[in-house]
Amino acid sequence: MLHTDEAILRWAAQDYGDLVHHRPVAVLRPADVAEISAVLRQNAPVVPRGAGHSLHGQAQALNGVVVDMTALDTIHEVRPDRVVVDAGARWSDVLRATLPLGLTPPVLTDYLELTVGGTLSVGGLGGASQHFGAQTDNVLALDVLTSSGDLVTGGPDHPALGGRGRNGIIVRATLRLVPAPETVQWHRLHYSSVELLTADQRVLVTAGSFDYVEGQLKIRGGQRVRELEAVSYSRASLDGLAFDDADTQVTSYWDFVNRLAAGEPALREAGLWDSPHPWCNVLVPDGAVENVLRHLESEGPELYSEFGLVLAYPLRGSVFLVAALRYARRGDDEAVRAMVEANKVLTKMAQEAGGTLYLDPL
Ligand SMILES: Cc1cc2nc3c(=O)[nH]c(=O)nc-3n(C[C@H](O)[C@H](O)[C@H](O)COP(=O)(O)OP(=O)(O)OC[C@H]3O[C@@H](n4cnc5c(N)ncnc54)[C@H](O)[C@@H]3O)c2cc1C
Repeated sequence: MLHTDEAILRWAAQDYGDLVHHRPVAVLRPADVAEISAVLRQNAPVVPRGAGHSLHGQAQALNGVVVDMTALDTIHEVRPDRVVVDAGARWSDVLRATLPLGLTPPVLTDYLELTVGGTLSVGGLGGASQHFGAQTDNVLALDVLTSSGDLVTGGPDHPALGGRGRNGIIVRATLRLVPAPETVQWHRLHYSSVELLTADQRVLVTAGSFDYVEGQLKIRGGQRVRELEAVSYSRASLDGLAFDDADTQVTSYWDFVNRLAAGEPALREAGLWDSPHPWCNVLVPDGAVENVLRHLESEGPELYSEFGLVLAYPLRGSVFLVAALRYARRGDDEAVRAMVEANKVLTKMAQEAGGTLYLDPL
């Protein structure tokens, strides 16, 4: 059904970034795929929206129609090697259907409340990407609506993957599954320098011994923290690594992959969930990563807040993802401006080193 009331139009002009606000003329909450097809056939600009966790209005449609894909979120079938899902399903829904059968998608984003269509349209990276690539590398088949409203099927090379909603609307995806561990050994290793942190990340990735590897830089309680999260499904050894100290826990796989669920209420309470998030994600060649991280450490603490952090982790092909995750208070335009300027510097630095933007504004 098409909605045009003010509250829904305002909702569709908002996203997690809270930096761009394009009003559509209508929002479609489809009852089925045929309804989306009918709107596409009318030739208006149509943009699919998943969970709306974009940072720069990528799921908004100025004077067009936004399709709320979360209306179609059925998990159709789970088989030992695959799951068939509607694109509006969230990754947490996918896991709730597959984990009871001991199965999981090989790569998960850190936060599970993103939709399948939303992350497949950008890539979808996580701590297991060193082994399995992006979520888009683990798609077996897709049903896609073309811009003229035709329903086509495609394989792992379909341009809707990574197409940010502009190369067709993914309505259904068949995703690869692998066996899920029941428990994981989750180490948080702390380092005295960026160089030691990244060196250990390379050691772990070369050895292939850890299932999940992500590094982070943050300031907590006024102290600088350089942390490597190294997770093993089979109790791999930490011998030979250069960390200063380690916190280790054994936890269920679900609790590990769903670890950010607890962060959302905390951020809401602090007034930093529905507020501007000038985040900047770049893909940096391996040889340049220390330089970029040293630069980010030299930025003022006011660019991060008590909740902000820099993520840094290796992907396949000698590339690191570096993500500056900044939180500003609503109304603090000066902080937002400073963060946006800092992101320009980071982007330029990454590009001059041969890197690119991930999640670029379109
Ligand atoms: C808290 C948080 C944590 C995150 N963690 C990670 C992470 O660990 N790894 C990572 O890679 N990214 C991460 N991201 C970024 C996230 O993957 C992207 O912003 C993603 O696009 C958001 O998915 P969504 O469902 O909210 O999509 P939306 O923001 O609603 O849409 C994103 C894009 O996808 C398009 N789109 C949506 N649905 C479809 C569809 N069915 N077919 C085609 N196109 C579609 C939209 O048009 C838009 O261009 C995170 C973001 C947040 C806010």
